[in-house]
Amino acid sequence: MKNEKLPAWDLSDLFNGIDDEKITKGLEKYKKFCANFAKRYKGKLKNLDGAEFAAMLKEYEKNISMASKIGGFAYLNMVTQMKNQQAMAFYQDISEKLTDYGKPLVFLSLEINSLDKEKISSWLKNKEAAFYKPWLERLRRFKKYELSEEVEEVLIEKSLTSSSAWVRLYEETSSKLVYKIDGKTYNDAEISKLLLESDENIRLKVGKEINRVAMQNADLFTFIYNMVIKDKAIEDEKRGFKRPVSSRNMSENVSDKTVDALAESVRMHYRDIAHRFYKLKAKWLKKDKISYWDRNAPLPFSADCNYSWEETVEIVLNAYKKFSPRLYAIAKDFFTHNWIDVPPRDGKRSGAFCAPVCADSHPYLLLNFAGKQNDILTLAHELGHGCHHQTRVKNGELNEYSRMTTEEVASVFGEMITFQSMVEKLPDSKEKLALIASKVSDMINTAIRQIAFHFFETRAHEERKSGELSTERLNTIWQEEMKESLGEYVEVGDDCAYIWSQVGHFFFLPFYVYAYSFADCLVNSLYQVSQSGTVENFNDKYMQMLSQTAIGDYKKLLAPFGLNPDNPEFWDKGLELISKYIDELERLDKKLNL
Ligand SMILES: [Zn+2]
Repeated sequence: MKNEKLPAWDLSDLFNGIDDEKITKGLEKYKKFCANFAKRYKGKLKNLDGAEFAAMLKEYEKNISMASKIGGFAYLNMVTQMKNQQAMAFYQDISEKLTDYGKPLVFLSLEINSLDKEKISSWLKNKEAAFYKPWLERLRRFKKYELSEEVEEVLIEKSLTSSSAWVRLYEETSSKLVYKIDGKTYNDAEISKLLLESDENIRLKVGKEINRVAMQNADLFTFIYNMVIKDKAIEDEKRGFKRPVSSRNMSENVSDKTVDALAESVRMHYRDIAHRFYKLKAKWLKKDKISYWDRNAPLPFSADCNYSWEETVEIVLNAYKKFSPRLYAIAKDFFTHNWIDVPPRDGKRSGAFCAPVCADSHPYLLLNFAGKQNDILTLAHELGHGCHHQTRVKNGELNEYSRMTTEEVASVFGEMITFQSMVEKLPDSKEKLALIASKVSDMINTAIRQIAFHFFETRAHEERKSGELSTERLNTIWQEEMKESLGEYVEVGDDCAYIWSQVGHFFFLPFYVYAYSFADCLVNSLYQVSQSGTVENFNDKYMQMLSQTAIGDYKKLLAPFGLNPDNPEFWDKGLELISKYIDELERLDKKLNL
């Protein structure tokens, strides 16, 4: 990294430090509010009229927001100095207090859901109450699938010894796995990094070791997985969900039909995208076929140059500006007001994130900037999240919520426009090819691979209906799905047969994996539309859409762009973008005579 002083974030917009007296006062106020609120409203909601209901929610929202601000501050103050005992203890103390004080508020959503439709509609006639319609609708969406209060209570209590117990066992077992390479031991995170080594012998050794450890634990993982699937099936049946995937779709607020259209479209593009890419990759790695463990191997000629922070900011902001001056205006604030913590530090959390804090405050971004090409795209990504938050402040705390499928739109889009501007500046060269190849590889891992995972779990849940699945059977389904998606230039042998057990989402969030592909393909489709010039004022419509992601459904959000996610063509459009990048890779490969 070039020698320069990297900026840290300034948390004083929230509080002036952990001994700011506003924190103690705020906590006291919140504690009193929670206790009083339950006393005033519990069991009495049915007697409220629209105006009273709105006033109640406003007060509730204001206090929730204050609690989020205190909790958010404690968290952010901690993540940059995790070896500081005082900061750690402060965070722990604040979290416990907020959870404890907030307990009396639990009645609110349950009681609202116990009321009939007529009562809710009468409230919504009041203009102020109608502001909270998105929140109410979200709350009520599950009502149809709710069971009697007693059954719900039993399910919550029993979950500790059923679903949650299996997940816990899975997580505890996984976190204790130890890998051995040449006499040295590694944990999970350390071993995955070794898969990015340039020496193919190391990669293969590492891959085989990951598979061996999974095989050693296969009896237990198979048993847990069978239980997780059955447990979900029992509850789904009682609630009346038609298919294993349906309850997840319900919480993402997408129809089964939309998800089917996505999955089928992706499958139709396996050949054109993944197979074609790995053929090129095999050639670049000078092999007839690459191993399963070579998929993410670095290219022999990828030269990663160094960027200063100043250059990085310039590249990202220029890309944002070129796309939309309004987006640029929002993005600029993050730099001028020090809302980003840039440098890596001892004791700082690794990776990068955008923390929204609360509805009436701006978000903060955390980075661990090392001056690599990838760091530019990471800034573009997190900044997208940050700008997205700023466009929806007016919706308030309650109406906002995160669902994976829309939460990643602005971030992936921000990354896309930045990536594109970097590519455009480069002449035809190995550097350009390596940049595109690394982006395509990421896109395949997100858009294509996650759908292969989706087909794996769909089949496992389907087959489980007629009895327990053996490890051999799960291995076979896994290998079939991997072979189909990766194609003939990737060896899917016995050295990766047990890897399904390493996909944590299968265990703790069944049917979640498609959301990654969903978000990526959705952005790619939107990006294609933006490039085609067919939609007038695309940028303004895009900004408008961002402000609505938590309060509108997909069809409504995408209609201004002439897009309909139920239609397989919508997904094809997004996938075509990846395909075009592979055309470009083929062209460069020929031209550079690699
Ligand atoms: Zn993200």
